[in-house]
Formats: sequence, C-alpha cells, structure tokens
Amino acid sequence: MEQVARLLAQVGLLEADPGRVAALKGSADREGPWMEGEGCRIYRRSLRVREGTLYFIASNGSSKHLYALGGSVPRGLEGPAISTGRLRMLRAELSTGNAAALHELFPYTAPVSLRDRTTTIGCGDRLGLATPGHLRALAGRQAAPVLAQQSVRELTLTQRSFPGVVADASFLVFQEGYEGGYGADGDHLKNLRDIDSALDAGMPMITLDLTEVMSPEPAAWTPARVDQAFASLAEELKAVTSARYEGKRFELEGTSVEIGATEARRCALMYGRAVEFAAEVDRHLRTRRGAAYDLEISIDETTAPTLPAHHLYIASELQRRGVAVTSMAPRFVGEFQKGIDYIGDLRAFEEQFKVHCAISRSRGGYKVSIHSGSDKFSVYPAIGRHTGMRLHLKTAGTSWLEAVRVAARLDPGLFRRILAAAVDGFAEASRLYHVAADPARVPAPQSIPDAGLEACLEEPNARQVLHIAYGRLLGDPGMRSEIYRFLAEHEEEHYTAVERHIGRHVRLLGVPEVTRFP
Ligand code: ZN
Repeated sequence: MEQVARLLAQVGLLEADPGRVAALKGSADREGPWMEGEGCRIYRRSLRVREGTLYFIASNGSSKHLYALGGSVPRGLEGPAISTGRLRMLRAELSTGNAAALHELFPYTAPVSLRDRTTTIGCGDRLGLATPGHLRALAGRQAAPVLAQQSVRELTLTQRSFPGVVADASFLVFQEGYEGGYGADGDHLKNLRDIDSALDAGMPMITLDLTEVMSPEPAAWTPARVDQAFASLAEELKAVTSARYEGKRFELEGTSVEIGATEARRCALMYGRAVEFAAEVDRHLRTRRGAAYDLEISIDETTAPTLPAHHLYIASELQRRGVAVTSMAPRFVGEFQKGIDYIGDLRAFEEQFKVHCAISRSRGGYKVSIHSGSDKFSVYPAIGRHTGMRLHLKTAGTSWLEAVRVAARLDPGLFRRILAAAVDGFAEASRLYHVAADPARVPAPQSIPDAGLEACLEEPNARQVLHIAYGRLLGDPGMRSEIYRFLAEHEEEHYTAVERHIGRHVRLLGVPEVTRFP
C-alpha cells in the first residue's frame, strides 16, 4: 500500500484534485492504460473522484485492488487502511462484498437490463479477465455488451460463482471507466433454484433453457399416435390448439407459415408444458425485478433444427400468455459448433433464417438470439441483414481461445502444455460439448516449431480441442495459477487479442457505428 501511495505522490494525485484526475484519465489513449512506478500500476481510466474521495484500481504486480483515498474511509468498502499525510487510504480486495459496495458508489458498474437495446453481444468470459477487450471491441458501435455470462456448467468447470462472475466484470468495467451499461446473463438455466441464484447475484438476464420441459418424442410420431396422445391433454390446451393453430396459415412480413392440423397438435404435445413453465418463470422474474429483466427463451439445445411452424407456435403461445420475451434462440439449420465457422448450406440457412426473423417481428419483436454464435463469419452478413440488427449474439469460449492465442505467441512452453492437456482430456470434455474435432489430427505439441504454434488456433481440430479444454486446465490448480499469472503479465496483449477477434464479429455482422452529431 505504501508503494501505491508513493506512486500517487509522484504523479501528483495525493490531493484528489478533479482537474488533475481528469487530465490523467484522459491521457490513457496517448500515454497507455496505466502509470507505473514503485513496482505498481495505477490504471488511468479507473481514476474517479466522488464526494472528495479518489477511487482507482492499482496492481502491485501480482494482484489488483480497488483503492479509496480521502478524508475518511468510505462506507461499504472493506479492507486495510493507512494514513498518508492528512488522508486515509483504503485497499479493498476485488471481492463480491466490495463489488456490491462499488455498485452503490458507482451505479454504472452494476449490470442492467438491456431489454431496450436493439443489438446485444454476449461476451462470455470464462476467466473473468477479458472485459476490457470486449468493451474495446464494441466501443463506438451501436451494441451493448453482456459482460457477465455463465451457465451452471461453466461455473462448475471454472470453479466460479454467479456473484464472482458479476464482481469480476464490475471491477473491470470500473478499470476501463466504461459507463455505457452492460448486461449479466445466467445462461442456459433450467430450474427456479438456479434462476434464483443468478437473480441473487444481481444478474438481470436469464436464459431459460426449455430442453428438459420440452418433449422431443412426438416429432417422430405418426398422425394417429399424435391424435391419440393429444386427446388426453387438458381441455383448455386442446381448445386453444384447435381454434388458433390447426390448419391455419399465418401471413408474415414477406412470407407465410402454415400449421397443419397434425402439426398443431404435435406442437401442443411437444411444447405445451414448456410454454407453461416459461410463463411461470416470467411471473417469477417480474415479482423479483419489476420490468428490469431480460428473459431469453432457449430452444437451441435440441436434436433437430427448430421448424418455422414450431417457432411460430411457441412464440404465439408465449405472447398469448403475456410473457415478456426479450430474445429467443431457435436451433437453425446446419451446424453451429463451438468456436468454428458455420457448417452447412448457406442458402438453406438464409432461407430459413429469414422466416425465423419474420416470426419474431410478428410476435412482439423480440431479438433473435444466436447461440454458439462465435466465429460464424460466413453467416454474419445474412444474420445482420435479416434481423435488421435486432439480435443477440452469444459468444463465450472464443474469448478463452484468444487467451490461449496469447500463450501461443509469447510463451511456447505454456502453450505446448495447454495443448497436450487439451488433447489428453478431449474424450471427457467432448461429452459436454457439441464438437466434431478429431484429437488424433492435432499434431504433437513438441513437433510444432514455435513459429507454428499460433496456427493451431486456425486449424478446426486443434481449435475445438482447445476450446472445450478450459475445465480441465482451470481445474488443475498449478495450471490455473500459471495461466492467470501469465495473463496478468500480458494483460494488454490479452485485451488486444480479444478486441481484435470480437471486433471482427461486430464488423461482419454490420453493427453500425455510433453516430456523432457535429
Ligand atoms: Zn445455447
């Protein structure tokens, strides 16, 4: 703490003079993101004065803290304090408790509902380190980031928690001085218990995964069997299905969708219970958060692509029940595998995607959500065009791969060990993920020259093997601390890699730049 105080004195910050603070903050683009000295770094963009107290993030080389310097120690923040001259300086751990205090002091550091934002980008960050890269990739673009986004599966594999994920994003938002608002998504949640733990952590977005309450079986049933099962459904559901859907043709913008009698009954059998559950979750969210929540309906983790008639049925039933759907993720035709480009017929994709977009526009205008959305460069132009940018693009593991890329560039030994462990753990990891990689086609790490290591991140087999290996790597305490230490040492290289990669997504989607009026 004394070193930080000496560095503050050197740069003229011991008096929290707002003019001096603004000048140092504004010089970040020109002079670099931090001021260095006494073995410490003070992050320029984090400098902020509130009620006479100066707040900032500083690193002592091995760890970062939030500091507060003023006449008295602020309420809420916890940590040791020292006196420097007539001032007190407090050093707060980047903990969940101190994140809650930060949200009180600087409300822009807390996640918010992005219901009213047209374009949103899910920036899953498994390490809790990539936020500055995500923010820089979206800077100057008309899109809002969802910076904290984890599924229960990811939390388990990374040994993190919802409050920890939100805290990590909050402190990095503060470090970057970003005040534009960001979302937090409890991703692929299937029950009220998990939903409550995400809500308790202050996450305004819930991605409700309906996989377990949908019934996929009737998809393959004969009309006779569908009719037989339909007969035993609740009278109300039967009446609604007959009156509203059986044999009806729905005129949508530029297209139409027909639902035959059998298909309507099939939908009632497949989705009736799921729609009821979604309505229950929506009521729960409204009770807990008023209107400040984003409900995403996810039906993408199914065995077959979502037929337009089925999407239309689900959307209509949700609308009839007054469910506030912010976004919906159907499963599209072709393959959306983790971390690699779209696999399939581009024309077939576009033809059906258009219809999904028309359905969303006709049923309340929710955003079409693209899951496993990273790296689908060949379909982004079509996605941007047909959604009119009213979309949510969900990415996660691709940012982890950028961290791995930095290792490939700067620490060949570490990268080779990561690759070897990834190949080793592939059989186990691939049980949890939809990937088609063949680990036997990944070259032996020792046989790759240093200059060829980064190319592994462009080769689909190695890329997917690395993509799903994060659980094993972060579950090994030695490897985990090595990866974190490495990325702390190469923080800016990491941010730049993430910025460049996510920036490519944003450009190809055609996310417009923010218009500035002269
Ligand atoms: Zn998904």
